Order: sequence, then structure tokens, then C-alpha cells
Amino acid sequence: MIKILTVRTGFNEELVDITAKVSAAVAESGVKDGLACVFTPHTTAAVTINENADPDVRSDIILGLKSMRIESADYAHIEGNSAAHIKSSLVGCSEIVIIDKGRLLLGTWQGIYLCEFDGPRTREVYVKII
Ligand code: ZN
Repeated sequence: MIKILTVRTGFNEELVDITAKVSAAVAESGVKDGLACVFTPHTTAAVTINENADPDVRSDIILGLKSMRIESADYAHIEGNSAAHIKSSLVGCSEIVIIDKGRLLLGTWQGIYLCEFDGPRTREVYVKII
């Protein structure tokens, strides 16, 4: 089963918490013991797992990636968003989470995030549960 989540991002760059949507997909699947692959089919977005307690961590991740100074290189890509493509590759387009007793086996302070690097846009996230 594949569940397709739709996420509307509101900013050029942001991390959107999709944990509840992924958890709902797991519950809907009925799978009690397995894996959830969370994958975004975009080249300027990514999926990551990080802290869900202090929202400053999300903005610090955006700031940290900006501070790598990859924004201003003399890129050839005509669309002009090479920095977003590079961030997508650095963060990665998927995460795999263990399902145990029907629930995502995340740490207490972990959430699953869609990372927007070239928004705002409507993004899709595929959740494959096995
Ligand atoms: Zn591009």
C-alpha cells in the first residue's frame, strides 16, 4: 500500500511537521510490525527526522544550511534554484521508520519533516508501508 500525502508549504524554505499524517497512514494500513518508507518525489524538497520540541531547531536547520554558503555560486542550471537542488540532495528525499505495535517507533523528541527548499509549493510525500 502507498499513501500519498499532499503538503502545501507556505514559505520559500521551511520544515513542515508531517508526523501526524504519517502516523495516520500507518494506522489506516493496519500494519502492526513493519517499516514505513517516507519519500518525497521532488528535487528541491527533502524528508528528515529531527527535534519536535523546540521549533527553533527547525529554523536553525534552515539557517545552518544557508550558512554553508551554497546560495551564491556561479551555477549553470537555468532555473536558478541550484541551491535548493543541492539542499535536497544533502538532506535526502526519504526516511525509513520502524513500525512497532502499530505505531511509529520514533524517539520522544523526534518528528518527521518535509523540508521545503524552493517554495511555497504543493508537495507530495509517498508513504510505503511494508
Ligand atoms: Zn531547478
